[in-house]
Amino acid sequence: MANPPHIAVVPSPGMGHLIPLVEFAKRLASVHNISTTFIIPNEGPLSNSQYEFLDSLPNAITYTLLPPVSFHDLPPDAKIETRITLMVTRSITSLRKTIGSMIEEKNIVALFVDLFGTDAFDVAVEFGVPHYLFFPASAMTLSLFLHLPELDQTVPCEYKDVPDPIRIPGCIPVHGKDLMDPIQDRSNDAYKRVLHNAKRYVMAKGIVVNSFKELEGGPIEALQQEGPGKPPVYPVGPLITGSAESSKDVNESSCLRWLDGQPHGSVLYICFGSGGTLSSEQVNELALGLELSEQRFIRVVKTPNDKVADGTYFNTLNHKSSLDFLPKTFLERTKNHGLVVSDWAPQAQILSHSSTGGFLTHCGWNSVLETIVQGVPVIVWPLYAEQKMNAIMLTEGLNVALRANLNKNGIVDRSEIVRVVKGLLQGEEGKGIRVRAQELKKAAESVLSEDRRSTKTLDQLASKLKNKI
Ligand code: UDP
Repeated sequence: MANPPHIAVVPSPGMGHLIPLVEFAKRLASVHNISTTFIIPNEGPLSNSQYEFLDSLPNAITYTLLPPVSFHDLPPDAKIETRITLMVTRSITSLRKTIGSMIEEKNIVALFVDLFGTDAFDVAVEFGVPHYLFFPASAMTLSLFLHLPELDQTVPCEYKDVPDPIRIPGCIPVHGKDLMDPIQDRSNDAYKRVLHNAKRYVMAKGIVVNSFKELEGGPIEALQQEGPGKPPVYPVGPLITGSAESSKDVNESSCLRWLDGQPHGSVLYICFGSGGTLSSEQVNELALGLELSEQRFIRVVKTPNDKVADGTYFNTLNHKSSLDFLPKTFLERTKNHGLVVSDWAPQAQILSHSSTGGFLTHCGWNSVLETIVQGVPVIVWPLYAEQKMNAIMLTEGLNVALRANLNKNGIVDRSEIVRVVKGLLQGEEGKGIRVRAQELKKAAESVLSEDRRSTKTLDQLASKLKNKI
């Protein structure tokens, strides 16, 4: 009898990609008895949070790190899309070796890669293994990726200079300047890497997207319309970390204990994801705005980065000193109504706590899904990647968020912070947003219940995987 079915997954190492992929693997294991090995390309040791996360995986999910690749030849300002893509491209030889030996021991039924890992498809083709794409962002962003080769052919200028909003199949029209970051400069290497991957999406046997029809009906319908060379798309979301899961993290118990002592729906949670960083000036301004708003808050603080907004994307090391970058005596002055956490907080648990009444977020897709599932209203503050598109969906599309606007110097100043924080937690606008956020929560709950669409989609996919088709 053949060994039980097993899949190989080549993720990019950022937590925002690992977390939903692991949720996907957990469901395949628990419901369909399909086990998984994560084969992780990297450029050196992972961060503490990444190791802690990977070392707490259930038995059916294992991981192996490929030998680190070298980026010594890249310019210091190479964007993350270049680095993530090259991390996979430069790992192909070691990946081939790893898959080759896995195939001798396990019944590998598929290889999954994530959005910038399509070069790994070649290895799957060599070994005759069906290969799939796991897309950890929104269906809207997936629709843009699939449409990008056509846009590249038909738009002669930078997308931000196109006078009319750009039409992405199934989506609300978006102005070119709000499309994802790596396609804003077509002469940059990151654009070429995104386009290279996007062109290869048609090679996939199928594309799994972490979204659901009740949230993104338009783009999902467009993605599922059959067409020549279009791979089937499986919306299996929302795949998010369960709020009941806990780690041994010390931040976790202190955050939850603190929240236990706060009034219902009164606390604003502030976090810019695993990779997001602010400039020193912005860290300071945010602190002063929070203090002036006189609202309760939990704020995750990272060491500022004055050059890039994704300063901790590859490395979420614990910078205990990040608190030193706050204004002098801020901690002392706000200790009665605020809690500051260095680097990493138990986000899923915080969002599910009844004292949490709002989330100021950079709009990473996992954060968007987590807040929707918990019905927590939002303040959007996008930083990089496709976060501006997610912010537009939350504000204009779903109407569950306020936007923190930049001033003419590119800073969200303290008065703007007071406006949005008070507006969300206390204002009339906030009330309407809260009602709509609760409605979306109900829609997400019904998708998560057992006999619903995402579960059936996953069943369908699992049966294809088991039959290697
Ligand atoms: N996260 C967390 N604690 C933190 C920062 C992030 O638990 O302090 C988790 C968050 O819950 C989410 C993921 O890390 O699941 C971040 O993914 P997202 O897509 O929101 O942003 P990214 O980190 O990819 O920019």
